[in-house]
Amino acid sequence: MKCYPDYGPLPRRRSVQARVGHVAIGGDAPIVVQSMTNTDTADVAATVQQVAELARAGSEIVRVTVNTAEAAAAVPVIRERLDAMGISAPLVGDFHFNGHRLLTRHPACAEALAKLRINPGNVGRGSRRDEQFATMVEFACRYGKPVRIGVNWGSLDPELLARMMDENARQRDPEDAAVVTRKALVVSALDSARQAEALGLPRERIMLSCKVSGVQDLIAVYRDLAARCDHALHLGLTEAGMGSKGIVASTAAMSVLLQEGIGDTIRVSLTPEPGGDRTREVIVAQEMLQTMGLRSFAPLVIACPGCGRTTSTYFQELADRIQSWLRAQMPQWRGRYAGVEGMHVAVMGCVVNGPGESKHANVGISLPGSGENPVAPVFVDGVKTVTLKGGNIAAEFQKIVEQYVVDTYSSKVAGEGTQPAKDAAHA
Ligand code: SF4
Repeated sequence: MKCYPDYGPLPRRRSVQARVGHVAIGGDAPIVVQSMTNTDTADVAATVQQVAELARAGSEIVRVTVNTAEAAAAVPVIRERLDAMGISAPLVGDFHFNGHRLLTRHPACAEALAKLRINPGNVGRGSRRDEQFATMVEFACRYGKPVRIGVNWGSLDPELLARMMDENARQRDPEDAAVVTRKALVVSALDSARQAEALGLPRERIMLSCKVSGVQDLIAVYRDLAARCDHALHLGLTEAGMGSKGIVASTAAMSVLLQEGIGDTIRVSLTPEPGGDRTREVIVAQEMLQTMGLRSFAPLVIACPGCGRTTSTYFQELADRIQSWLRAQMPQWRGRYAGVEGMHVAVMGCVVNGPGESKHANVGISLPGSGENPVAPVFVDGVKTVTLKGGNIAAEFQKIVEQYVVDTYSSKVAGEGTQPAKDAAHA
């Protein structure tokens, strides 16, 4: 089978493996994709629908806001309805300010959740902070749930930061305030993790995150965090932004860390455009991991950008059609054609790079550029098999790809290849 070169395994930081429901995070587990809803959790129907959409798009864990009594009461109902629909993605409860109260009054919420997210900067102030933090950890212990200690620089514990700033100011050569803030994020996460362990939460049930919104800050903070603990790390750039800015910033920051083996689960925090699709953050996270060769989720389409040699939008439309069609097939193909998610399909615009790139792909087509003979050679596993022409090229090419999938992947035992070799190697 033709494929792009395998660059071998990347080194992976050693972390203690945690389990969130049926999903393993850290250790030798593949890097997990997760997402978060933006519905009012108290709106059961809307939340169930969005969790289902995110899960069907490939989110392996979904976080929901738990901010009110109504939201906490809704969580068990949401879980039940998802189970009835066959959606098994574990739910994580995102708590701030009143988590201790909500869990106390709605223990069924704790039971229905697969993980609690606790923000140590938002659990209370002064003496109440420790007490309320302990209440939440005790719920995690009682119901056997893991916890993510999720620090965010928008809500960093102000008492801790003030103390560290004061200590810094007393130094002969004080550090920059930004450096102290970055250190405070890491200290907040590590101190809270130690506190949770002292309260009886097993080490393997504690995951950490320290989210910031700047690319260089995220890289610096996670390098520090990764060097100072072996907890599984949830990686993500907070408030990444909208559209291409959010995608680029998240990818720029996370790919540096992932390349260094840092990060056991990722979330891409994109701001959706009005009316936009929440599942975009899942697709971006998957594509980030897949283009880095860390996991495979769906066949990738390699397409050239087009140039003055492509006088029509035909090849763009074909690339788009094939990409959408391949992704739409995945729910059925995943169980039937093991390994299909690692397939590459090339759709190229002219003879300059078209045949060469198509030969590297599993299946490729080189469309005619302007002034070229109006024919489109198709390459399968590097060999030219047919030349398409006329007005039906798109449908015929789609059929060739479909036949390739049947011929190539159906002979494998179900399950083989669904965990790409690189996933295992990356461990
Ligand atoms: S393959 Fe051809 S059409 Fe595509 S960018 Fe290169 S020269 Fe332009």
